[in-house]
Amino acid sequence: MKLIICSLLLLSISFQVFSQSNIKFPDAKPLPGHLVTNDSITIEEKSINLIDIKSHHWDTQKFNPFKDEIVKFPIQIKFNDSLYRTPILDSMVITSRYGWRNRRAHKGIDIDLITGDEVVSVLDGIVRFVRYNSGHGKTIIVRHYNGLETVYAHLSSYRVKVNDTVRRGQILGKGGATGNARGSHLHLIVNYKGIAINPEYLFDFTGTNKIRSNELWITKRWATPYLHTSKRRTKLELLSTRDEAIASLTKEKTTYIVKRGDTLSHISRRNNVSIRSICIANNIKSTSVLRVGQKLMLEM
Ligand SMILES: [Zn+2]
Repeated sequence: MKLIICSLLLLSISFQVFSQSNIKFPDAKPLPGHLVTNDSITIEEKSINLIDIKSHHWDTQKFNPFKDEIVKFPIQIKFNDSLYRTPILDSMVITSRYGWRNRRAHKGIDIDLITGDEVVSVLDGIVRFVRYNSGHGKTIIVRHYNGLETVYAHLSSYRVKVNDTVRRGQILGKGGATGNARGSHLHLIVNYKGIAINPEYLFDFTGTNKIRSNELWITKRWATPYLHTSKRRTKLELLSTRDEAIASLTKEKTTYIVKRGDTLSHISRRNNVSIRSICIANNIKSTSVLRVGQKLMLEM
């Protein structure tokens, strides 16, 4: 009897684990099988996924093979795990964040390292790109099973080749300062179909190694560098359901009507929106004269 109960228990546990691994992506592709405990299933599930994530724009020569792709926001991203690995083995110091920097878009985060320090993959995946890419120098791109890609730039050497399957925490290469880098550091980009997302929206870099949520909805705000600054962490408001994402879309854009005495800097300060973002959203210059009653679109 004990044996029967025990095996029933085991069966239900393995069923639960298996059903977790069956979470579907928006495009109905299965998640990788590493949650599955049974070895034979792991191999089978993984081989399915190898085909899946390589079926769409798998190009080992191009940094961004998604250029002709139209991506609709909000983007749904799912994780089948609650932890990631920090890309360097030492404790991580971020020297520059995702956002506006010196009048240019900084589309990743800079992590301090010494040339020769090992750089590891943040999640399981398959290596798509291992080559020199102008400003990025020696670069590795890993595609993950949820559709995200992580880019590791300014490396000094490679330890993997394209089409290699890598595990979370596996060494990809060594850090350095190749390409356009002032001093050795890792420039880490998180892309979805070629669109750079603020990595801090997805990953907690404060030492916990936590993925923020199993399901996250990414609105355009989290993929628009000029709405962030490289100097500070942007205040987080996680959207973990479609309804929250849709509700935030209407909140993201509000119309402001210019009042007597208003200047761009007043409006910017009072609404916590940068002057630059007001100018871009309304196609005006920072020196433009505002009219009383003029409608301005503010992207929060
Ligand atoms: Zn950088």
